[in-house]
Amino acid sequence: MPIQLTKKRININNRKIINGADADVVQLYPMKHLFAWEAYNTGNANHWLPTEISMQQDIEQWKSKTALSDDERTALKIVLGFFTTADSLAANNVVLAVYKHVTSPECRLYLLRQGYEEAVHTHAYQYIVESLGLDESEIFNMYRERQSIYNKDAFILSFNEGIFDPNFKTGTLANDQKFLENIVVFSIIMEGIFFYSAFAVMFSLQRHNKLVGSAEQIQYIMRDESQHLNFGINLINTIKEEQPELWTKEFQEKMIGLVKEAVKLEYAFAIDCFPKGIMGINADSFKKYIEYIADRRLQRIGLSIVYGSENPFPWMSEAVDLSKEKNFFETRVTEYKVGGTLEW
Ligand code: FE
Repeated sequence: MPIQLTKKRININNRKIINGADADVVQLYPMKHLFAWEAYNTGNANHWLPTEISMQQDIEQWKSKTALSDDERTALKIVLGFFTTADSLAANNVVLAVYKHVTSPECRLYLLRQGYEEAVHTHAYQYIVESLGLDESEIFNMYRERQSIYNKDAFILSFNEGIFDPNFKTGTLANDQKFLENIVVFSIIMEGIFFYSAFAVMFSLQRHNKLVGSAEQIQYIMRDESQHLNFGINLINTIKEEQPELWTKEFQEKMIGLVKEAVKLEYAFAIDCFPKGIMGINADSFKKYIEYIADRRLQRIGLSIVYGSENPFPWMSEAVDLSKEKNFFETRVTEYKVGGTLEW
């Protein structure tokens, strides 16, 4: 959009997440969507890099014949099979589908940070695969080859049809609902449900002092992902306020239906990871956990809960709390170059 020479200043009341009238997507100030600025600053404060976490103990355990059972090894591979491509799918959605249509510059600022964090996560999985000497092509092809992962990804990607169309534009009821649906699917379902069985697998290993380096990587990832989820929830709730006509009864029921479908896919994935149950976790407790998580997500966007299940893994909340407090820079010696110390 070309700029015009004018004395007329931006009115922040016209600023909206999508369809902002006289939208200036370049001018950060004056800011309206302060949650995005806060998320951006939190993201920066949480900065971390995979290569600075020691993988030594994991490498020894992976080589050892006794440290890990065959079931635990298989579970790790399937978890990585999902993770290695999941953040790339999320990054593509942020950069190619969401960013373009968002008319709030502060939200765009955070989306850039989020896109970078998805890259760091993909790097972390690559680093785990490389450190343990796993077969890269086996792990990275799993999203196409393993039914339970394929089903989750195919479900998610089906919601990009239309939005990825270069001619797609917001501004009609149908298209705005399509855009909102995309955010519900990627935030609430992909980042809010589809990551959580895999997180639970990693933290149950960590609780038994197994693969703790890999689990620490995943803790940092979960901290970032919970910010992505919060931001997505803020986007959804703000779009609902700005354009209440989109949030029809029919649309709400459709979203609940999608969450129910996602819960089934996630449960099938969890069973695939742990077909015989493992370390005190059985199929039924996984089912309850996924239902519990799904209810929490529905509540946060103002929808009523579906399952009413109790949390069978209270230690998962501990893992979340711990990762909130963990400061990457306090726990390791790093040599980050900041502007003042750059030498040319
Ligand atoms: Fe994410």
